[in-house]
Amino acid sequence: MSVVDVIRAKRDGHRLNEEQIDWVIDAYTRGVVADEQMSALAMAVLLRGMDAAEIARWTSAMVASGQRLELKVDRPIVDKHSTGGVGDKITLPLAPLVASCGAAVPQLSGRGLGHTGGTLDKLESIPGWRAQLSVDEIMRQLNTVGAVVCAPTEGLAPADRKLYALRDVTGTVESIPLIASSIMSKKIAEGTPAMVFDVKVGSGAFMKSQQHARALANSLVEIGGAHGMHTTALLTDMSVPLGRTIGNALEVVEAIEVLRGGGPRDVVELTVLLAREMLALAGISDVDPGEVLASGRAYETWCQMISAQGGNPEGGLPAAKHVHVVNANRDGVVATLDAYAVGQAAWRLGAGRSRKDDAVQHAAGIRCLAKPGERVAAGQPLLELHTDSKDTIKPAIAALNGGLEIRDTAAAHTMTVLEAVRGSVPVADAAPDMQAGDRV
Ligand code: URA
Repeated sequence: MSVVDVIRAKRDGHRLNEEQIDWVIDAYTRGVVADEQMSALAMAVLLRGMDAAEIARWTSAMVASGQRLELKVDRPIVDKHSTGGVGDKITLPLAPLVASCGAAVPQLSGRGLGHTGGTLDKLESIPGWRAQLSVDEIMRQLNTVGAVVCAPTEGLAPADRKLYALRDVTGTVESIPLIASSIMSKKIAEGTPAMVFDVKVGSGAFMKSQQHARALANSLVEIGGAHGMHTTALLTDMSVPLGRTIGNALEVVEAIEVLRGGGPRDVVELTVLLAREMLALAGISDVDPGEVLASGRAYETWCQMISAQGGNPEGGLPAAKHVHVVNANRDGVVATLDAYAVGQAAWRLGAGRSRKDDAVQHAAGIRCLAKPGERVAAGQPLLELHTDSKDTIKPAIAALNGGLEIRDTAAAHTMTVLEAVRGSVPVADAAPDMQAGDRV
């Protein structure tokens, strides 16, 4: 097989056949196909697209590049994946909640890059908590606690790890077929038979438009179907940060409030909604996750989950050295709190990283004291900026520019589900909005 022929075929808008896809992914993983050749192919895919059958095969080839976990657990297994947003700490209350309702949740998560946070970064703000677990440890924790959130084991979808790093530096991240196959290769390799996707839409999300989010959701569901996985994808709004905190330790504190029966309404609502979807896929219909959350049982599971990975659930969390308060410049109602601007500001404060090997500041981030629809008086505190490095405050304020607005009147912001895409999408209807070369 000649890689140049495969690149030319895609460059000229042809479909790749199964042999070509299997060969190129395997040869790239083994180093036979060079980075510059794979970059050219990724660019051709970004410009020309792939159809549903090509995407499914590309995904299978990436799964086959490594190990596939066989989860042996005596309860139904179900997981959730969010495409990432600002203040999206939902996994933290959701995994123990769904486990408390009788399912097993094996969540292999990632670290954050850019303005969206990563679940592992959040949990690593708990002193002693360990992200890296062996397969045996994952299995043991699933069988005892019912929920595990940890880093992917080394051997899962190595082709994706290599290709994702390459896409990151070659302007080829934004291809919907490549994003969908990248996400799904890891989830299929994780061995989860059922999966709920929270596809975020809006300024703070990867997908800025509902049309692109729908195309991604359809593709995720379609790939899942082709691999025997039960899937549901919800498109949820990410134009305003979720909850009132952005940043690692701050988000853990908020998640614990939710697990103790309090916390912001949007976080509670989305947690319960996703739990219902997960339980439906897991075939558990006799438990109300809202009641379980309010009862404190999910908090007990959270404590077991954190302890099992070396953390002290009742121990302190890091606090920032500096807290700068942003005050309202007039009387009125908060009209805009833009997720992208707030995410950028939190990132500037040290909550996120620019390169994948950078360290994050666990205490850095933002607390939103007022959200859209809330009335404020001139001089009233609106945001707290938390950081260990005082020199980040000015750039953080600059990043907020235009993202925070007070007007005479404004509507309240509520947690919104824009659409739901459920499994068993017929092949002909899959990704109807996805055109050749469609990209984010
Ligand atoms: N997340 C992934 O895992 N892969 C992508 O390509 C984009 C987001």
